[in-house]
Amino acid sequence: MPTIDKLTKPSHLINMSDIIREGNPTLRAVAEDVTFPLSDQDIILGEKMMQFLKNSQDPVIAEKMGLRGGVGLAAPQLDISKRIIAVLVPNPEDADGNPPKEAYSLAEVMYNPKVVAHSVQDAALAEGEGCLSVDREVPGYVVRHSRVTVEYVDKNGEKKRIKLRGYNSIVVQHEIDHTNGIMFYDHINKDNPFAVKEGLLIIE
Ligand SMILES: [Zn+2]
Repeated sequence: MPTIDKLTKPSHLINMSDIIREGNPTLRAVAEDVTFPLSDQDIILGEKMMQFLKNSQDPVIAEKMGLRGGVGLAAPQLDISKRIIAVLVPNPEDADGNPPKEAYSLAEVMYNPKVVAHSVQDAALAEGEGCLSVDREVPGYVVRHSRVTVEYVDKNGEKKRIKLRGYNSIVVQHEIDHTNGIMFYDHINKDNPFAVKEGLLIIE
C-alpha cells in the first residue's frame, strides 16, 4: 500500500515509526508541488500531521504513544515527497504558571509554502535545533533568516502571505527546508559551530 494511503486511513495515528530518519534519500529530495484543488487525501494528510504534533505535545498521549515532542513536521519526513508542512508552536505559560490566553502562537498546515522575502539579519536559536528525523544531538548555531515573509495555500485553498519573526520564523524555515532536501545541520558552521557573525540575533 502506498505510504500516503496508509497514513490517511481513518484509524491511523501518525507515530514515530512513520517518520523516516536521516540517511533516507527522501529527506534529500526536492519535494513536488501540491496541486489544486487539494485532493481529500492531501487535506487529510495535513490534518493527520497536525494531530501528530498535538499528540506529541500532550504529555500523557506522548508517553503512551512513545512520541518525541515536536513543533513542526514536513511530509518528506513521512516519506511523502510533497510540499506540505504542519507547524504548531505553543505559547508559554505566564509568570504565575497560568495557561496563555491563546494556546498557540502559530498553528497551521501549509501547502506549497515558500519564503518570498527575508531580512538581511540572520538569527539562530541559542539552544540549537533538533529534528524528529535526527536521533542525535547536533550542537551549534543553525543560522537562518531572522524574519521571513512566507506564502502558502491553506487547507481551504486560500492563498496566504504571513510575516514571521523570532521562534516561529525559525520553525517554518526548518520545515520548508525539509521540502527542499535541506537538513538543519547544513546551516551550522562546520569549522566553528558556535561562530557568531556580526549582527547574528541569538534567540533565547
Ligand atoms: Zn526536521
